[in-house]
Amino acid sequence: MTSGDTCQDLVESVTAYLEGVMTEAERRVFEAHIEACPPCEVYLEQIRVTISEAGGLAREGVPTDLCNDLVAAFREWHRGKLSA
Ligand SMILES: [Zn+2]
Repeated sequence: MTSGDTCQDLVESVTAYLEGVMTEAERRVFEAHIEACPPCEVYLEQIRVTISEAGGLAREGVPTDLCNDLVAAFREWHRGKLSA
């Protein structure tokens, strides 16, 4: 498998992307996926909004529970979109 090019990889690496801790290569793969996959683009935007409403990632990161909930919700939603 090519790392970073599936929706699951994207979901799992979205916080790294938003924190700016990805390598250049990782970021390119991530952004290429976002451009090719509208649901993931929406997901990224939702995470961005969630983080900004929560006061940012800078000090404490995304609470694990919140992150897991979002990932689970997104997976279901994405699966629904793909099979629709
Ligand atoms: Zn995707």
